[in-house]
Amino acid sequence: MNNLEDSYKAKGLRRQLVKEIERKGIKSEAVLSAIGKMPRHAFFDSIFLEHAYEDKAFPIGEKQTISQPYTVAFQTELLNVSKGNKILEIGTGSGYQAAILLELGAEVFTIEYNQRLFQKTIDFLPKIGYHPHFFRGDGSQGLSKHAPYDSIVVTAGAPNVPETLIKQLKIGGVLVIPVGDQKKQKMITIKKLSQNKASKKEFTHFSFVPLLGKNGW
Ligand code: SAM
Repeated sequence: MNNLEDSYKAKGLRRQLVKEIERKGIKSEAVLSAIGKMPRHAFFDSIFLEHAYEDKAFPIGEKQTISQPYTVAFQTELLNVSKGNKILEIGTGSGYQAAILLELGAEVFTIEYNQRLFQKTIDFLPKIGYHPHFFRGDGSQGLSKHAPYDSIVVTAGAPNVPETLIKQLKIGGVLVIPVGDQKKQKMITIKKLSQNKASKKEFTHFSFVPLLGKNGW
């Protein structure tokens, strides 16, 4: 049972969480404000309420996790979202990252591999007012049907950068993807400069669950 009520206690804990991720280096006011608005406890089964505002990843079933808020903020900041941006998220999971992107005014396409999580989130997220376009399938191959995107964010750890994801970006678009082994990945951004030119930037390490599928593990 998800807890849909936004209590005084939850709001207080959320303010602390925003301060914590700001202290860790997130600067974007828009991102901090979206995290501050999002009732993260609603993405949890109610018995886990007290964990919802810790800056930690948390199991959501099916051996998957809702990402750490700092990680979500870090990836979102790299996306540099403008209102109306068309964004593909790979790894819907709980729907938390998708909801943050919607809060920033993006049009969100989100794809999930796991049937049960897909169903759980498609049932839940609209209940708290967030409406991405949901897809079930192997996001390691992107979602070519709706390409090109202003940006693509991968929320599972990839063994390398799938070429097809760069193809599905608009010129000027950016791909945010954690790349490494199954335990630790470096956050990478790839900016598409022209049809066959891209620039790469590397950031710090994170630890995501593995990206599955054809271009995953
Ligand atoms: N973005 C999520 C959130 O906000 O809760 C967290 C995502 S969780 C860390 C990673 C998700 O990626 C899992 O739900 C997993 O099932 C999914 N996943 C793994 N491989 C995938 C693939 N090839 N295509 C789509 N989703 C995938």
